Amino acid sequence: RRRVVVVGAGMAGVQTAVALREQGFKGPVTVIGAEPHQPYDRPPLSKAVLLGTAEGSAFDVDFESLGVELRLGCEAHGLRPDARELDTEHGVVPYDVLVLATGAEPVTLPGAEGVPGTHLLRTLDDAARLRPVLARQHDIVVVGAGWIGAEFATAAREAGCAVTVVEAAGRPLAGALPAEVAAPMAGWYADAGVTLRTHARVDRVEPGAVLLADGTRLPAGAVVVGIGARPATAWLAGSGVELGAHGEVLADDRLRTSVPDVYAVGDCASFPSARYGERLLVHHWDNALQGPRTVAADILGEAPAVYDPVPYFWSEQFGRFVQYAGHHAAGDRIVWRGDPAGPSWTVCWLCEDRLVALLAVGRPRDLAQGRRLIEAGRTMDAEALADPARPLKSA
Ligand code: FAD
Repeated sequence: RRRVVVVGAGMAGVQTAVALREQGFKGPVTVIGAEPHQPYDRPPLSKAVLLGTAEGSAFDVDFESLGVELRLGCEAHGLRPDARELDTEHGVVPYDVLVLATGAEPVTLPGAEGVPGTHLLRTLDDAARLRPVLARQHDIVVVGAGWIGAEFATAAREAGCAVTVVEAAGRPLAGALPAEVAAPMAGWYADAGVTLRTHARVDRVEPGAVLLADGTRLPAGAVVVGIGARPATAWLAGSGVELGAHGEVLADDRLRTSVPDVYAVGDCASFPSARYGERLLVHHWDNALQGPRTVAADILGEAPAVYDPVPYFWSEQFGRFVQYAGHHAAGDRIVWRGDPAGPSWTVCWLCEDRLVALLAVGRPRDLAQGRRLIEAGRTMDAEALADPARPLKSA
C-alpha cells in the first residue's frame, strides 16, 4: 500500500488527509506541519480569535480515528524525488506519494523586520501577540489596505484603538479590484473612524513611529504589516519541482507537479484554468477546501477530474460581509446592481454577455445565484442584471 505524505498542516494539508479517507484510501497517511499547534483555521485569526471572542480555531478533525499520523513542530527543508525522500528537521521521511501544502507566508516590509512593536498576521502565534496590543488600545498603523489590512483595522477599531492605514496605491485593494469598484470601499474606512492614507509610501519604521516618504511621522504604539503573501516554497529550490515567478508550485489541471507522484494544493500552488484561460494562484480558503478533493481522487486513480473551480472568497470588514466569486479581467464589462453608497450592492463582470465574476456586499443571495450562473457559463441580460430588485438569472 502506498504511503502518502502531506507537507503542511493548514487547511489544504488537513483537507487532503480528510478527503483521502472520505474517498476510501486505506494506506498510511502522514501530515507534517512546521507549527507546533494543533492544526487550525486561519480566517478567524483576523476576526473572532483576534478580538478574543473565540479562544482558538482548531479544526474539528479527529486525526486518530481517521488513522492519520500528525507530525507537528517539524519543518521540511528538502525534497529528493529520485529517492522519494523528504528531509525534515527531525530526519528523513520516505514517501510513495507526496502532497505539497505549505501555504504562503506574509511579505515583510524591508527594514521593518525585528523593529519592536512591528507585527504580521498569518499564524495563531501572530494573533496571540496582537491580542494584548488591541487590549492596550494603542495608536496603530496598518501598512497595506488589502483584505488583511481592512480586517485587522476593523478589529482594532472595535477594540477601541486609533487606527491609521497607509497604502502605497491610490485606493484600497488595488491589486484585486478596479478603481471604480474599490472607490466606495475607501469610504468604509472613514465611516469606521479609520484614517486611510493612500499614495503613502513607508520610508522607515522606528520603535514608536512610522515615517512616510513625504516626511510625515505617524506615532505608532504598534505597526501591523499586511502587504501580501508569497508561496512558502523556498525549501523546494533545487528539488526539480518547477516553480513560477512568485515562487508558486506550477501544478497541472489535476494538481500534479512537474515531478512524478508529487502534488501541490492550496496557497502554495497555481493551476491552469481552462474556464478563465490563464493560470490562477488563489490565496483563499475555498481553494484550500476544494483542491484537496481533486488531489485525493487522482491519488486513488479515480476517473481524472480536472480542477477548474469558480474561485470564491469572503471578507468581513467594517461591519460588511463582502463575497467574491469568479475571476475578472481588465477588459470585462462592469454592471452595478444597487447603489455603491448604500449598505448593500453587487457588482458583476461580464465577458461577451457571460457572467464571469461578481462581488456582493451584504447580498449573499446574489452571490449564491451568481456563482451558479458563472459555473454554468450562462449569458446574461445586462439590463435585468442592473435591477437589484430582480433575482439574478440568465437571459
Ligand atoms: P496555510 O494555511 O498557510 O497552511 C500551510 C501550513 O504549512 C502552515 O501551517 C505552515 O506552517 C506549514 N508549512 C509551511 N512550510 C512548511 C515546511 N517547509 N514544512 C512543514 N510545514 C510547513 N480566506 C478567505 O477566503 N476568507 C477569509 O476571510 C480569509 N481570512 C484570512 C485571514 C487571515 C488572518 C489569513 C492569514 C488568511 C485568511 N484567508 C481567508 C486565506 C486562507 O486562510 C488561506 O487561503 C488558507 O489558509 C490556505 O490554506 P493552505 O493550507 O494552503 O495554507
